[in-house]
Amino acid sequence: MSITSTILRAGEAQGGHNLALGVIAVALATAVFYVDTYTDIEGAIAVLYVITMLLAAQATTRIGLLVIAAVCAALTLLSYVVTHGNSADLQSTIRLIVALAALLVTTMLLLKTETARVTLLSINSALKESEARYRSIFDRTRVALWERDYSKLRSYLMDVRAQGVTDIKAHARANPAVVDHCVDLIRVVAANEAAREMLGPESSAAGVLRRSIIRGQEKFLDVLQAIMDGERVFEDKVEVRADNGEDKLVLFSVSFPEDPAAFNRVVVSMVDITQREMALKALAEAQAELTKASKAATVGAMSASLAHELNQPLGAIVVNSQTLLRWLDRDPPDLAAVRRSAERMIRDSQRASEIIQNTRSHLSLSSNKLESVSLDRLVDETMALMEHELQRSGTTVLVDRKPDIPPVSAVKIELQQVLINLITNAIQAMDEAGNPERIIRITMERPDIEHVCIAVRDSGPGITDDAKNKLFAPFFTTKATGMGMGLSICRSTLEARGGKLEGTNHPEGGAIFEMRLLIKPEVEHA
Ligand code: ADP
Repeated sequence: MSITSTILRAGEAQGGHNLALGVIAVALATAVFYVDTYTDIEGAIAVLYVITMLLAAQATTRIGLLVIAAVCAALTLLSYVVTHGNSADLQSTIRLIVALAALLVTTMLLLKTETARVTLLSINSALKESEARYRSIFDRTRVALWERDYSKLRSYLMDVRAQGVTDIKAHARANPAVVDHCVDLIRVVAANEAAREMLGPESSAAGVLRRSIIRGQEKFLDVLQAIMDGERVFEDKVEVRADNGEDKLVLFSVSFPEDPAAFNRVVVSMVDITQREMALKALAEAQAELTKASKAATVGAMSASLAHELNQPLGAIVVNSQTLLRWLDRDPPDLAAVRRSAERMIRDSQRASEIIQNTRSHLSLSSNKLESVSLDRLVDETMALMEHELQRSGTTVLVDRKPDIPPVSAVKIELQQVLINLITNAIQAMDEAGNPERIIRITMERPDIEHVCIAVRDSGPGITDDAKNKLFAPFFTTKATGMGMGLSICRSTLEARGGKLEGTNHPEGGAIFEMRLLIKPEVEHA
């Protein structure tokens, strides 16, 4: 009994049955041993141990089988010793060998069978596991899935193809019954929970399939064509109608197996994109509205910019004409001074005309021409333009020139407008603070191979905390008569050419604004 219990497969469901087999096997072994040892029956009785082994094999493991084989062989030898002891003859020895050989062969065959059985069991359980995994993915995924049997449809389409039809759409147009027939050939095997949620509880019924196919017949013909052409994937937007009559736009996708035999289980997925499409449509509409609004804002900004930019040359013209009159009123009139004032007026008028010209071309959206601009010359010309204003406010400009700054490819008047804005702001800030020492430092640098920087630093009070985050916001101003457009326009002007404009307070006092320019702006910026 102790042997039986060790060799029985513990814990198996068929434990009771195994125990019975084990008991019979032990009883049989005992009987064989008794007959072999204590009766006079001549013959290879021990061969009957094979039956014991066959019985035990049903209920034991491989190790158990080896143990039983060893026990049977031991019993056979024991019988032989007890029966023939000292008088062993040739016949009984041959019978012993036959019995032992039978046991050996049986053990080997049983071991082989057991190995095959174990392998089969593990393959089977792996298969079951994968099936369960597939099931759980199919059932639980939030994507609506259908399992459809396309095997009959595929066979039909292959037959049609064999008859020489390659364009199923033309074929279906010529034979209207084809679509209906094809729909009939598809069988819905299963639908998951998400599919039922999307199209309703009836979504696995063939009627739903027919309903959606009839709505999107052209798309269905595309699917047929894809099967016919042996394509592996079909994906498109398709309109389907849910059980409750609601129309949905879905992304329909199906991957066809390589193996024709697997067409009986094709997985079809649908993702509801109705909301997304509606959102995209709303977004496109909003964008169109925004573009319209921003065009209006651009026109507004340009008018504001025009007024702002013209203010400076027009103011200078007024001042110069007053000066000119004063020189004329002298007795005798100082004609050399009159000439100088008149020249300044001409220069400022030309600048005003350039500004108007430039704004005009901005508004007509024609891009200005890039030219090679030397920063040194740009600063000099700008200072000349602002000469009067600088003198009036008692501002000294210190320019830190560097020999290795290359010219930039830019629209000169744009850079000039930005520079004038920065210098004007600096003068106004120092004016407002009533600084006795008014200094503007202009520095130029080449921080890397692609860029150059021009910084304008003043000795004013610096940017207030309140202004820091809003400096570049349109219409932000802290000045009573300010428009708040200057910095905003300057920044967008530079950014349009791949440049940047930043403003901050200098650690040693005053505000510093830095223009960062691309030496060679890329085509898209330009
Ligand atoms: P505006 O000059 O019409 O006010 P800007 O856009 O040129 O418009 O300037 C916006 C604001 O930025 C100014 O009102 C001012 O508060 C601040 N600001 C600009 N430049 C300086 C500067 N150099 N120092 C201090 N504050 C400045």
